[in-house]
Order: sequence, then structure tokens, then C-alpha cells
Amino acid sequence: MRQHIVAGNWKMNTTLQDAQALVSEITNMVADEVTDSNVQVVICPPFPFLTSVAKLLPEGGRFHLGAQNYHHKESGAYTGEVSAQMLKSVGVEYVILGHSERREHFREDDQLLSQKLNAALAIGLKPIFCVGESLETREADETFNFISKQLQEGVFHLSQEDFAKVVIAYEPIWAIGTGKTATSQQAQEVHAFIREQIAKTYDAATAENTTILYGGSANAKNAQELFAQPDVDGGLIGGASLKSRDFTEIIKSF
Ligand code: PGA
Repeated sequence: MRQHIVAGNWKMNTTLQDAQALVSEITNMVADEVTDSNVQVVICPPFPFLTSVAKLLPEGGRFHLGAQNYHHKESGAYTGEVSAQMLKSVGVEYVILGHSERREHFREDDQLLSQKLNAALAIGLKPIFCVGESLETREADETFNFISKQLQEGVFHLSQEDFAKVVIAYEPIWAIGTGKTATSQQAQEVHAFIREQIAKTYDAATAENTTILYGGSANAKNAQELFAQPDVDGGLIGGASLKSRDFTEIIKSF
């Protein structure tokens, strides 16, 4: 069975106190209410709170620490940047990359993303690589071409062995933070397409084993229907990951 993952991307939200309270609430609720042992939970707080949040995550269980970004170089004169190595040293296991907000606001292109992907894998971090089309692209009926190009240029240079460590997240830009979720059918269609591309590039077994998450206004109400789709293996959750009750309900939605 493919690994199910629910990842909370807190983005640029919370103070230290909020972060500590939120993660304590989530871990308590999940301990009390979640029985499905195939669900892994990744918490991605802002950089300054990683170590404090790490201390509050129960060890050896379903919880994992994730980071929202990093620089692809190992160390050096890059004022203000954080390397994959630094993240690893504070207990980070997963890193989000290719998020549309980073592509748009910070000009991260496919070439840079492929370097970032290599840097994460070189150090043993598990990448959550995001792809997704804009509304304009969807309306022009170019979604599949667009996503195929993002995968080709960002990810498919990897060896099969490295690719096996990558989680893919499909996040249609028009659904992120807008309250406009993709229908379960729209999500399934793109997830199946992504899996097909993986099978063509690597092989059927690799495609079958890849965890593909949906992201974009996923919430406690729609998660169950989304996660019921055969190719949707969990979610990358923004807004709803900041509310312990909603996030826990999403984790319970498989
Ligand atoms: P959202 O964000 O759940 O707030 O739409 C998802 C994401 O950007 O990862």
C-alpha cells in the first residue's frame, strides 16, 4: 500500500507561542483520535520555530518535521539563506520545493528547482515537489502539457533510485488559498496523469509506489472525497493546517 501523507504547510504564519500551542494541540488530538497506521504527518513551520516544534513532536511515530524552503548550496556567503544541511542538523526530514508561491514571488524556475532537488536528496532529505497549473493554463486546456513540462524539467532527471524518495504534490494555483478546491474528479484526473508520466519515465512499479498529494483549499469537509480517489494519497494543507481541529479531521479522512 502506498504511503499516505498529510503535510501542513504553515507558510509565513504563527509566532513561537502560536507554533508551540498549535503543534501540541495537533499531536494530542492525533494521538487520541487517529488509528490508521499508514498515515504519516509532516509539520512544516517557519524556520525560526523548527527546533521548538521538533521538541514537541513524539519521536519514532507518524510525525515528521518539514521545512518550507532552503538554499541549494551547502554553505558559504549567501546572507539570509538556510541550507539543506542546516535543516537536516535540526531534525528536518521533509522539504517542500517547487511551491507556486516560491515560483511566483521568488522567481524559482525549473532549473533552480532541479538543483534544489539534488541538494535535498544528496543529504537525505525527502522532497515534496509541487507542480500545478494556473487558471489561465487550465482554461487554455494546457494543464497536462504544463505539468508534464514541470516534471520533465524539475524532477525526471533523477535516477530511479532517487526518484523513489520524492513525494509529488499537485497544487493547482487557482485553488491555493482561494477556497476554490479542485473537484475530486479534477484532482484524480491530474494525479492519474502524473502517475502515468512516472510510469513512462521510470516504470509501473515506481509509479505505483509514488505518493502524490493534493493541495489547494483542502479542508475538513472535502478531504474525505479527495482522499477517496484512487490516485490521491494525501494532502499538502495550507490554511486548514493552522487549525488543530480541521487538520486532525483531514488526517482522519482516509
Ligand atoms: P491552501 O494552501 O490549503 O491554503 O490552499 C495549500 C498550499 O499552498 O500548500
